[in-house]
Amino acid sequence: MEKKSDILIVGAGLFGLTMAERLANELGKNVLLIDKRRHIGGNCYSEFDPDTGIECHKYGAHLFHTSDEKVWEYVNRFTEFTNYVHYVYTTHDGVVYPLPINLGTINQFFRAAYTPDEAKVKIAEQAADAPAEPSNLAEQGVSLIGEPLFNAFIKNYTAKQWQTPAEELSPEIIKRLPVRYNYDNRYFNNTYEGLPVNGYEAWFRNMLESCGEKVELRLETNYFTDPAIQALRDQGITTIYTGPIDQFYDYQFGELKWRSLELEKEVLDVDDFQGCPVMNYADLEPKYTRIHEFKHFHPERHQDAYAENSGKTVIVREYSKTWQRNDEPYYPVNTTEDRAILAKYQSLADQEDQVIFGGRLGEYAYYDMDKTIASALSCFAELKTRLTN
Ligand code: FAD
Ligand code: UDP
Repeated sequence: MEKKSDILIVGAGLFGLTMAERLANELGKNVLLIDKRRHIGGNCYSEFDPDTGIECHKYGAHLFHTSDEKVWEYVNRFTEFTNYVHYVYTTHDGVVYPLPINLGTINQFFRAAYTPDEAKVKIAEQAADAPAEPSNLAEQGVSLIGEPLFNAFIKNYTAKQWQTPAEELSPEIIKRLPVRYNYDNRYFNNTYEGLPVNGYEAWFRNMLESCGEKVELRLETNYFTDPAIQALRDQGITTIYTGPIDQFYDYQFGELKWRSLELEKEVLDVDDFQGCPVMNYADLEPKYTRIHEFKHFHPERHQDAYAENSGKTVIVREYSKTWQRNDEPYYPVNTTEDRAILAKYQSLADQEDQVIFGGRLGEYAYYDMDKTIASALSCFAELKTRLTN
């Protein structure tokens, strides 16, 4: 006889996987985990390029970083992490600068030798016209780094990435990037960072394998169109839904806006294309926002000059594009209009007894991996209280 599932999870991305693992291993629930794609891991999925053996991130580069002790402890149950530290450079007007904006960027840009205090005074002067409480990305950017640096490194990159006036974008987007008055150019400020030693898929497989037979995985299974899933919906099965919230409600209040990406992959017959993992392009030309060179994410695998892939590298040029219904939704644009639409969907979601919405698409949130896991762990804690009382 077929095993009866207690809970349906829609989406085998990090939110769905974390919920499945917790429900199975802590509460002994039988979980049916579905995904419309052919693989687990959602947007964090990576695969090893068949020509070169280099691990390539299929939906854009993913670097793990967190300062959340609970999340760090949780992820280390399923994978070890390398000691990779992320560095990004940017090209502006034919010159390469270090990111995030730090004393190196400032001194190179102004052809100066400012001390940290001198640089702070200079930037404060250039930021003097910005409002004390910035209400959008443009104001926030100028208040953090002053107008000349904003115009050089943020304005046009943001225009390419979001194709939305910076005055309509949330100030939170730019607050993701640190600004430092020293020469530290680590991209992230977090306590922990690294990449899964054996790749992302191995990490996610370990999560599922830890559940034994408690989690049944069905790939290429769409929540909206699969007849067996329709039958479970009709029976009112408890569901954790990590797809887009507006699609769940058939876009009745309109579409939430997303940015999508065009990722152009190329295998090149050179050992090292750009000398760093990620090169951003700050000007309106070229049209791509950045180039990822995956080899640099795993120096521990690729440093050996005799390695199979020496003499070859894989790069991906990333172009941002406006999302349409059949594209992958990547970044929530999150304008005031989007937030008003989201509030309407959320008020319907609040009335659902059997469906819980979570993750990047279900919550319409620009979550990094650690925030997605933290959100799933707190969603699990709430559900546990509900299921055990
Ligand atoms: P997803 O990974 O999107 O998973 C949702 C899953 O639901 C998908 O697999 C989808 O196929 C499935 N699904 C949707 N609808 C249905 C349906 N109807 N039926 C069945 N299945 C369905 N975070 C970092 O920490 N570091 C980074 O460097 C980083 N880089 C990023 C780069 C890009 C370009 C993007 C877009 C995000 C990046 N992130 C990064 C964020 C990270 O991708 C997310 O935090 C994480 O993937 C969210 O997991 P999720 O499970 O919520 O969503
Ligand atoms: N950004 C920019 N120039 C850069 C890098 C980032 O203007 O060289 C801005 C841009 O608006 C971007 C945001 O900062 O969307 C966040 O950058 P991050 O690198 O965190 O973006 P992600 O990796 O999530 O695409």
